[in-house]
Amino acid sequence: MQFHLNGFRPGDPELVEPAQVASRTCSGTSLPATVDVLIVGCGPAGLTLAAQLSAFPSIETRIVEQKTGPLELGQADGIACRTMEMFEAFGFAERVLKEAYWVNETVFWGPEEERTDTIVRRDRIQDTEDGLSEFPHVILNQARIHDFFLDVMRKSPTRLEPDYGRTLVDLKLDRRANPIHPVTATLERRTDEHECQIETVKARYVVGCDGARSAVRQLIGRQLVGDSANQAWGVMDVLAVTDFPDVRFKSLIRSAREGSLLIIPREGGYLARFYIELDKLNENERVANRNISSNMLVAAAQRILHPYSLDVKEIAWWSVYEIGQRLCDKFDDVPAAEVESRPPHVFIAGDACHTHSPKAGQGMNVSMRDSFNLGWKLAAVLEGRSPPKLLHTYSAERQRVARELIDFDRVWAQMMSARPAHEGNAGADAASNGFDPVEFQSYFEKHARFTAGTSIQYHPSEIVGPQTHQDLAKGLVIGMRFHSVRVIRLADAKPVQLGHTVKADGRWRLFAFANAEDTGDAESSIGKLCTFLEESPASPIRLYTPAHADIDAVIDVRAIFQQYHRNLSLERMPSSLFPGKGVYGLRDYEKIFCADHKSGEDIFEMRGIDRCTGCMIIVRPDQHIAHVLPLEAYDGLIAFFGGFMTPSL
Ligand code: FAD
Repeated sequence: MQFHLNGFRPGDPELVEPAQVASRTCSGTSLPATVDVLIVGCGPAGLTLAAQLSAFPSIETRIVEQKTGPLELGQADGIACRTMEMFEAFGFAERVLKEAYWVNETVFWGPEEERTDTIVRRDRIQDTEDGLSEFPHVILNQARIHDFFLDVMRKSPTRLEPDYGRTLVDLKLDRRANPIHPVTATLERRTDEHECQIETVKARYVVGCDGARSAVRQLIGRQLVGDSANQAWGVMDVLAVTDFPDVRFKSLIRSAREGSLLIIPREGGYLARFYIELDKLNENERVANRNISSNMLVAAAQRILHPYSLDVKEIAWWSVYEIGQRLCDKFDDVPAAEVESRPPHVFIAGDACHTHSPKAGQGMNVSMRDSFNLGWKLAAVLEGRSPPKLLHTYSAERQRVARELIDFDRVWAQMMSARPAHEGNAGADAASNGFDPVEFQSYFEKHARFTAGTSIQYHPSEIVGPQTHQDLAKGLVIGMRFHSVRVIRLADAKPVQLGHTVKADGRWRLFAFANAEDTGDAESSIGKLCTFLEESPASPIRLYTPAHADIDAVIDVRAIFQQYHRNLSLERMPSSLFPGKGVYGLRDYEKIFCADHKSGEDIFEMRGIDRCTGCMIIVRPDQHIAHVLPLEAYDGLIAFFGGFMTPSL
């Protein structure tokens, strides 16, 4: 973590110096008449976006929420490896690691062959394959994740706080009447002090992160389309005494006749979440009408766990809710036929545009990653670094990901609901005839990378280059997230994860991987690249970095060498790799790295980087790899950034 750049400041280094803007803390006050971005909903999607935009003092962001305060309990809890990588970019991954339950192994239980009224352990597998991420798969209450994002916002230069107790009731888009702030949002305050008070806010952009019953979605005329055969689920967080031996493992239990149960151990060592599958609902039926009680959930769990006992001492939170696999065809307000002619101004993210079962623990994860994809794009457009058409890539990229999720979840949910195949239920209908437990488990294992969020790949577009030079770094796949490896920082020999240099700050990263001989001197490939970037009028750094900004304000260049770090010297490196920054021109010594020869985790080896030639890896602000280019491909670099960036004035 770097701080003190613009002068020594005592105290919490995470508390960024406040920007010279009006405080965004406004509980009890009115909303401003105009904003750049209005976010609707303080769920994981909305808070991820708000936390990201709060880092930009030039952007006026507001986030409204119909509830009167932050979430305290319940809802989702699964945090995939890829999401942890994203949390690292926001600076709170370590806090999550410390507090959360770590899912190391998953256990499968099914009916005993001879006595099908009894369940037995069928298998136990490692949950996440080795080397998939530097982070584990963890479990932590959604409310705590909200807290961490709120903390990021509070400590940001804009000191952004949500405006609670406000419900969005209407949206109007009129670009002719108001070209700058074309969206008019109408909100109703429903707190005791402000009963039914109406406010209107004009916004450049509105983002509906308002959950499965999204008003924003409805107001832009989009629909969740999909499976109408809704499935009801009971979920409860319990403190219980049981002789079921795997209560501290993630356990998938399928009984012969009593349904399925998913046990998710929770943070703190004692709490556990039980997901209990309930009956299918009839068309248009709401689960609320079934009068399901928490006692009914406990009784169902006890039946499924037979012959093991379950004595529930306390229910911390419980809920029943219905889920269908549903998806919007587009995640913004622009019809497909008009994409070429106008940019979007209203977006939807998270459950507002995709819903699915909780069984694979994807809801919160995919929702946060939607808005992580959108946040940097909005910032780039609002700060004038990219044209508004960049915003079309949000729906194009994330709708495809959501479709994959829905397809995966449909099969997974069916498997979870089906009774295990065994002689006792032969002859039952297709849905209940069941899947072979081996097939069930193999589906789980096969899709582990998908559920970990690490297999997501964005397709070629103006911000994802073609595969032409992919051979130069076979393990850093264009379109996928940058898969971090530990490296040694040259200036202080500290082992660090290279991927952790990609923060949620809207900047691009250019990682220059040196060839085997390169020691960074002026005539080497790295030296020449640095000279080009620093001096050429065509250099993307010179073109896109504002005149008075630090050299790495838009594109942050870092170099990685193959040699043992003691065999290289900082004084021979190009000075642009330890540039002067801030008001004092202090040198930034955290941009040069070497492969970690001591631990044997050599990034060149592990990510298949061509040792003879090296290469450039361009990483987007959301940690996805945008391009792989040869070190000498200056024209390719110019063309790539020229495709979506606007030169700085
Ligand atoms: P949400 O978390 O739904 O957040 C939307 C926010 O928008 C809410 O705070 C809502 O109050 C606010 N809002 C809605 N309309 C308006 C409006 N018009 N104006 C202002 N604010 C508005 N997932 C699991 O994996 N496991 C679970 O056990 C689980 N349980 C859940 C229980 C409940 C009751 C709910 C609602 C969801 C549950 N989920 C669960 C789903 C999971 O929480 C979501 O997938 C995830 O929260 C999606 O995040 P989001 O930000 O898109 O939407």
